[in-house]
Amino acid sequence: MSKTIPYKIYLEEDELPKQWYNVRADMKNKPAPLLNPETHQPMTLDELSRVFCRELAEQELDDTTPYIDIPQEILDFYKMYRPAPLVRAYCLEKALGTPAKIYYKFEGNNTSGSHKLNSAIAQAYYAKKQGLKGVTTETGAGQWGTALSMACAYLGLDCKVFMVKVSYEQKPFRREVMRTYGADVTPSPSTTTNIGKKILEQFPGTTGSLGCAISEAVEVAVGTEGYRYVLGSVLSQVLLHQTVIGLEAMAACDKYDIKPDMIIGCAGGGSNLGGLISPFMGRKLRGEADYEFIAVEPASCPSLTRGKYAYDFCDTGKVCPLQKMYTLGSGFIPSANHAGGLRYHGMSGILSQLYDDGLITARSVEQTAVFEAAEKFARVEGILPAPESSHAIKVAIDEALKCKETGEEKTILFGLTGTGYFDMVAYQKFNDHEMTDYIPTEEEIAASLAKLPKVD
Ligand SMILES: *Cc1c(COP(=O)(O)O)cnc(C)c1O
Repeated sequence: MSKTIPYKIYLEEDELPKQWYNVRADMKNKPAPLLNPETHQPMTLDELSRVFCRELAEQELDDTTPYIDIPQEILDFYKMYRPAPLVRAYCLEKALGTPAKIYYKFEGNNTSGSHKLNSAIAQAYYAKKQGLKGVTTETGAGQWGTALSMACAYLGLDCKVFMVKVSYEQKPFRREVMRTYGADVTPSPSTTTNIGKKILEQFPGTTGSLGCAISEAVEVAVGTEGYRYVLGSVLSQVLLHQTVIGLEAMAACDKYDIKPDMIIGCAGGGSNLGGLISPFMGRKLRGEADYEFIAVEPASCPSLTRGKYAYDFCDTGKVCPLQKMYTLGSGFIPSANHAGGLRYHGMSGILSQLYDDGLITARSVEQTAVFEAAEKFARVEGILPAPESSHAIKVAIDEALKCKETGEEKTILFGLTGTGYFDMVAYQKFNDHEMTDYIPTEEEIAASLAKLPKVD
């Protein structure tokens, strides 16, 4: 018997997931191991534990345990902003005139404005449990730094954020949110680290980059007693924590007998998409159900659709472990006019393997089309979406319009990862018709890929 489907589905507290789901346990082809950047040998637990907290290093290496308990303290924190609603986009369906049923899982209902808090609290919790004093990280657009600041404030941990200088100056309000939560925010490159000083000497007046901010954060973590470095995406541990998104979405679908035909998400480093699709992918891998999974990336940073599946550096400073992933090369920087986020050069190892096995598909979209989709969505569904999230909206709308032509009543589920209130400079460009598209040439991508590390 099917129940009437409410506009928003909120699970009851006793229906919320109590474990994360590790999709690697059901994958026949496991993601390739992380390699030590110097020896090119697989990273051991001890080696990884110098970079990450012990339990996170264990999660990073665990290819076999399907369910991992979410500690009670994290469950309690999740209650502040979860469950996230599964929303039926009735108004969007009506505006499009489509027979498709569109649902989105909304992760923007917290002060950080994105799904990143799901992993920030987990990483901060394990750091605290290990008795550490604090963590360091980098942030570009600022969502990750904000999420980590919130988690650290809650647990009483010290949080040092290196924020790419151009964002630090252009997004002063993001910076102030982090400082309000007690984080120490430094524009990068800075004179507080050796690498920062070196870069400033070489490139006076530089406005910074993520790669540089990572190097500064790692230097401080390694050189300060009781600190570790944490990362907001790409890693398998981050994807694991983000499965709370997919587990809630699946429970809500099952409760109301909703059977998605396709599941769509934007892909930067792959954590929200991996988290959303993991439990559904588990069913597909076990032969229990079938779904079409679509990763959406910017045409200006197309790691899945135009990158190479190879070992690469996760950071520009080349200090983190090597990961086998779809990559554009660690030196790849999207063109300066790119305003839509999702600018990471590589992709989660788990998603890369699933994509290589043909279990998910990928599409790239241009940013003006993404902002058009964002505007349409905002006007009918009310929520002002993050530019990143709007990549998924764009493809969900495309698919719904295809259904309008064919008359198919497909069920489409997409991840709405966050809100765009701090991205108004990008919206302003769009509103002023000053936004342009740039697609890298074959030569540009080939030149960047030529610098991949040689790994036999
Ligand atoms: C960081 C971010 C993303 C992209 O990161 P993934 O790891 O690919 O999920 C997408 N949407 C929002 C709102 C973000 O803050």
